[in-house]
Amino acid sequence: MASSEASGSHSVEEIPDSSLHSDFSKQRLKDGVVYYENLLLENDLIMESSSDTLSEDAMLIGRELYNSTLDVLSEKKFISDEELIHAQEECIEGNFEAIADDSHDDYVPDEKKFKKSDFITLEYKIKVLNVAKAHPTWKLDTLQKHGCGHLKRMDHLKVWEKDVEQGGTKFDKFHVIDSWTYDRFVEMRRNYKQVTTRNLQQWALAAASQFPDLQFKASNRWVAKFKQRHNICQRKITRFVSEKETYSIETILASAETFRLQTKQLISNFNSDFIINTDQTGCQYQSHFNRTLTDKGSKTVFANVQDMNKLSHTYTAQYSITLSGKLLPQVFICLQEPTGDFGPRIKQHVEEYVKKYRNVVVTSSKSGKLTTILYKKFLVKSLMPYVQKNKFLLLVDSWTGQTRAELYDEIFQDEEKMPTCTTKIIPPKCTPLVQPCDVYFYRQVKNFIKRLQSTADLLDKNYEIHSREDCLKIHSIVHHQLSAPIFHQMIQYAWFASGLCDTKKFFTNVNQACFSLDLLKTHCNCNKTAFICRSWCRKNVCFECFYHNYHSGSCTPDC
Ligand SMILES: [Zn+2]
Ligand SMILES: [Zn+2]
Repeated sequence: MASSEASGSHSVEEIPDSSLHSDFSKQRLKDGVVYYENLLLENDLIMESSSDTLSEDAMLIGRELYNSTLDVLSEKKFISDEELIHAQEECIEGNFEAIADDSHDDYVPDEKKFKKSDFITLEYKIKVLNVAKAHPTWKLDTLQKHGCGHLKRMDHLKVWEKDVEQGGTKFDKFHVIDSWTYDRFVEMRRNYKQVTTRNLQQWALAAASQFPDLQFKASNRWVAKFKQRHNICQRKITRFVSEKETYSIETILASAETFRLQTKQLISNFNSDFIINTDQTGCQYQSHFNRTLTDKGSKTVFANVQDMNKLSHTYTAQYSITLSGKLLPQVFICLQEPTGDFGPRIKQHVEEYVKKYRNVVVTSSKSGKLTTILYKKFLVKSLMPYVQKNKFLLLVDSWTGQTRAELYDEIFQDEEKMPTCTTKIIPPKCTPLVQPCDVYFYRQVKNFIKRLQSTADLLDKNYEIHSREDCLKIHSIVHHQLSAPIFHQMIQYAWFASGLCDTKKFFTNVNQACFSLDLLKTHCNCNKTAFICRSWCRKNVCFECFYHNYHSGSCTPDC
């Protein structure tokens, strides 16, 4: 057969479309190449026409592009999916449709049952428990006067604490799954990222894994109801994706479960201060662009799909958390710089910032994303000072820049030059299910950042916190605040919700600890309305005193 093809004899059989040599796929690739050239032109990366001679360098680039093209063609395939947007998103060029489904929603227990006057929500219980914990000497009537009016007997506190530990009633659990999933949807759309039906199902399953006893499969019916509840529209799309993107939900769940089993086994060999999960997270500068969008509507506002490309100002932050509930002492930030490096003047400024914000390590790249070389810098500058020569377990996702074992063995060695780092790689597509940073921790970080940015906006329309310094300062603040002991249990919870440890502790999240509603009734020393209850000293301060007067380590338990 091979010989007849090689001899060039004409076959009467049509080559199926899946062959790279079919007319169909040759035409598709030709059009793709033309489109590719246009993209380069539009972004001012190539000349209109080629020169008369072909240089050796040009040939090297060409060959490299050819090889990558072959890789893409052999690794990726077309699949169909549904792209989702919120009904409130603006200027959408048509064909998004609301979801029609009238079937009975049997996944959410009858809400009426819970509307009885004696039904107390999980959030309320958590709030009361927090107040009671903060004021152990208060009696029932004092508690009732301080926003705990529905607490009828002191011994209910014990019962409620148990409810909270178990994650609430079945209704509470479905409510948690729903709101976690919706939060993620909103966050992704705010960052101009595509969301598909598959994403929703994965997030819902990730949220459900904190309730091991709950029967929940994120079925097609559940997801249809979810879209209806939240006013989400969809359209059919084709995606060109790698093999791993096509894994079924069942496959992903199974590999997540295997990962949990294996990791739990590994965990038993290490001190919990030395079981570390680290991950990169993409962040956006607060820009005029985002602001205009936020100003247009008072409710949830999203971007025009077409505007997504405009959002080029992004940077990467990398935090590391331990199973014991601690944050590693430094956060690693990679800023986006046009040439990849800081210019001499900017470099000088950055050096000053780093002296001011000591819990931040800064680097830069053209894209604002990390490369293997920058990741190595993270290991040396941010991880090494913490682990030193101790044995440790590091959980990282399957991003290719960080999966090579020798990368770690070169850097982390004991006195005898023996490797000290054990890595456990999170399987592809499983990170929303089993990576503690992803499952809970980064959502707390993002929430904190959002609070800072939107408050700065409200206070002064002319003041934007979007400079390099603001970006470093924000992460310095967030890192400093989240390092406080009050958040140890929140970080431990991230591991529990990922299914990597069995003990669920009562915990306080960022909103409960720092931004409770009662806070607005209190005042800062300077008499302005309080913005935050600082996590270290638990003092209520206004935004100006908190943000403008912040310097690294400016808050200690005794301040
Ligand atoms: Zn103040
Ligand atoms: Zn303080």
